[in-house]
Amino acid sequence: MDSREQTHEAPSRTAGEAGWHVSRYNLSAPVPEGKTVAIANLFKGTCAEYNPIELYLLSVLEELDENHPIIERFARRGIIANFDERAALETMGRGACMGVNGVGLTICPTMGCNFDCPYCFEDHYAGKMEPDVQDDVVALAKRMLDASGGKNISVSWFGGEPLLACDIIESLSERLMALAEECGGEYRASIITNGYLLTQDTVDLLDRCKVASAQVTIDGMGATHDATRRLANGGPTFERITTNLRSCKIPFKVNVRHNVHEGNRAEMDELQAFIGQLAEESGNKLHYYPAPVAGSEAADERGEQVNLLCGTHASEVGVRQEAGRFHAGRGHYCGAHNLWSVGIDAQGNLQKCWEAVDKPDISFGTAHDWDPTDPFATASNPDNLTMFLNTAVPIADEECRECVWLPTCVGGCPYKRLFDERACIAFKDDPERYVLALRDRIGEEREDDGEVAAGNED
Ligand code: SF4
Ligand code: SF4
Repeated sequence: MDSREQTHEAPSRTAGEAGWHVSRYNLSAPVPEGKTVAIANLFKGTCAEYNPIELYLLSVLEELDENHPIIERFARRGIIANFDERAALETMGRGACMGVNGVGLTICPTMGCNFDCPYCFEDHYAGKMEPDVQDDVVALAKRMLDASGGKNISVSWFGGEPLLACDIIESLSERLMALAEECGGEYRASIITNGYLLTQDTVDLLDRCKVASAQVTIDGMGATHDATRRLANGGPTFERITTNLRSCKIPFKVNVRHNVHEGNRAEMDELQAFIGQLAEESGNKLHYYPAPVAGSEAADERGEQVNLLCGTHASEVGVRQEAGRFHAGRGHYCGAHNLWSVGIDAQGNLQKCWEAVDKPDISFGTAHDWDPTDPFATASNPDNLTMFLNTAVPIADEECRECVWLPTCVGGCPYKRLFDERACIAFKDDPERYVLALRDRIGEEREDDGEVAAGNED
């Protein structure tokens, strides 16, 4: 029955006449054990179950009265919209290029590493960041703050293995923390480390340096891990890393990344349980997450050693990874998309992507010379800057333009897109598995009416 008949109100428009339509960014999957269907909306970042009556109303949406109560409920979850979501994504992409959320610096205090991982995309060279380059980093941070109007500084310590240069981490942190304070802003930091040198002294140093999260990679149990995470001299590392995670009191969160390939994918559940046990024993905040090793140029070149994941296996791991980092209203924009985020290698070369940190030919400038108030004239290679920034707006790519995954994928990894090929989501053709994985995860976080709008970070 039409709601106008029920309420005897003056006839109003249909929802279709009022501009409502079903979102182009819905993915759905029948829930195996029931009569409901789970629908995820990738634009709004929600997932919920719908019963047959709701599904019927959705199917006749444009004929409903515009004041039908289900409209507000559907709209809140984003599965219907009264605006052009794709145009909104285009605007969001442009905003991602210039948006200011403080200044982001990925700093490599050394490009040297004590490991030799077969899938590593870097060429390592010995030596640490010289004092004059450290001065340039601080001066660049100041110029970026002044030009952006931002106050906050966010640092990611990267390398090589950054813990080989703890002295530089400590002294640069002190200077950058003082700079943020001087500007009335906040300072926060994270680190990507192989974990081998994560002793209590190092943890305490990182804590003093306001490191709030670390990423440590463990590629399987024991010898499986040692096969791909080995010392430069070939020695094993599993025992040492896991002992560090168990015995140190670590005040910050540690994301344990598992680079999944054919040789270790069978150990995903065992490793996840082991990390859970380590967390329980130590009281440390350890969080497991899998990431497929696929499609990297370095991994491709050395693929025989790591047996890359492909087909359904890459898809399985990808679903687990992506469902774990599903966020409300957030595409996968990264530092490469934003002007106020730069990578700095040990020699002071600037990069838009950490996959490029050891590749001077993709550098866009130097910490000494680059001035964001005149970002092109002061860049040694402005094209290396603009090509990354412009990947934030993939709408011009016909395949991305029509793709249901666009809000979350944002056209894939910028580096791969530029130098390899369009890096589509591994499970692009298998949306139902993703929706059901989201539904399973969301079951634990369900809000009052079965929707969710939050996730954990990777
Ligand atoms: S620990 Fe990291 S930087 Fe070192 S070889 Fe392995 S992947 Fe490369
Ligand atoms: S890269 Fe592939 S999956 Fe991502 S939006 Fe473009 S076409 Fe879709």
